Amino acid sequence: MKKLALHWQILLGMVTGVLFAFILIQFAWGKDVIVDWVKPFGTIFINLLKLIAVPLILGSLIKGISDLKDISKLSQMGGRTIGLYVMTTILAVSIGLAIVNIIKPGSYISEQTRTELVSNYTSDANSKIKAAAVQRQVGPLQSLVDIVPDNIFKAASDNGNMLQVIFFAIIFGIAMILLPEAQSKPVKDFFDSFNEIILKMIDLIMLFSPFGVFALLAAIVAESPSLDLFKALGMYGLTVLLGLAIMIGFYLLLVKVLARKSASFFLKGISPAQLLAFSTSSSAATLPVTMERVVDNLGVDDEVASFVLPIGATINMDGTSLYQAVAAVFIAQAFGMDLSLGVQLGIIVTATLASIGSAAVPGAGMVMLVIVLAQAGIPEAGLALIFAIDRPLDMCRTTVNVTGDAAVSMVVAKSVNKLA
Ligand code: ASP
Repeated sequence: MKKLALHWQILLGMVTGVLFAFILIQFAWGKDVIVDWVKPFGTIFINLLKLIAVPLILGSLIKGISDLKDISKLSQMGGRTIGLYVMTTILAVSIGLAIVNIIKPGSYISEQTRTELVSNYTSDANSKIKAAAVQRQVGPLQSLVDIVPDNIFKAASDNGNMLQVIFFAIIFGIAMILLPEAQSKPVKDFFDSFNEIILKMIDLIMLFSPFGVFALLAAIVAESPSLDLFKALGMYGLTVLLGLAIMIGFYLLLVKVLARKSASFFLKGISPAQLLAFSTSSSAATLPVTMERVVDNLGVDDEVASFVLPIGATINMDGTSLYQAVAAVFIAQAFGMDLSLGVQLGIIVTATLASIGSAAVPGAGMVMLVIVLAQAGIPEAGLALIFAIDRPLDMCRTTVNVTGDAAVSMVVAKSVNKLA
């Protein structure tokens, strides 16, 4: 018998988790059984995701940056590529922030559910809110100072300092590029292999995901059986989807204006890669097809595609960054936190960096969301809330990630006269 694809397994986990909990809570003892015997597996799953975050950032970011060594050879193309990637990512985060503040999906949660949510996670929420409050009492440049670690091991052992780990990884990667290849090669080989191992670990963790999702959903239903939570989750999902649709519209405009190709030409050429991205939730797995379609169907020169697309698959994740911004603010809204403008601007920086650091594999964007949450002082326990519908959103944001890479490759190719 053919094994059920992972996304179906996860959907099955979701549905059965909800049904299981709805049936059990009909009995007086049902809630306790779920909280004592089912929920811990959800917590284990979240712990696994958090566990992998630090090694993932180190491996993926150091590999991503050191792969850029071609920049010296292709400096002009490199500059444009990185510039466009960063610009589209910042735009995506800003769109995400704008619509989540307008739609306010978290406000669909009633006061009563909110109180339950907060009291379920009180200790965690309190410590984070207190930590954030302490941070805000110090000088205006403190958040800048906080990016620079004085001890990398301390930074890596403290989830709240993920940005410091990113900072270390960036400088480490840049130093690797600046050294002659002979000197950096052993470490580069090490990190290439390290990265592969981490990705394999994520694969293994994702094998547990149907059960993790089952437990998380069952616990959510048992602990807050109010329907408004699901209404809020639905609104949150729609907010992400609306943002992603706006991004696709933006790419079509970009291709039309800067690469002078029509929307239908672009969509027809890239759609098989989009479908693959949707069903695998992995930009990396989709990369071979993206390359083939971009070269054979969209007229991008091979040299440009083989430079722009692999880097894009690693660092350019507009869909992911948009989702991270929406998710962070949604969780804050759900917990009844008011995010200041300063914190929201901080989210632009962290979500941009976190999406750059996200590996191009299923679920990576949610793992990296931990950084955005930690940095903004939003309770990480909120991950449990959004995990329920993360997979379908992952499928959609990966589609946007891949579409963005392809659009940028056309624009770069046009700018260096390598677009047929
Ligand atoms: N799955 C996404 C990708 O491969 C990353 C993410 O989880 O957002 O592009």
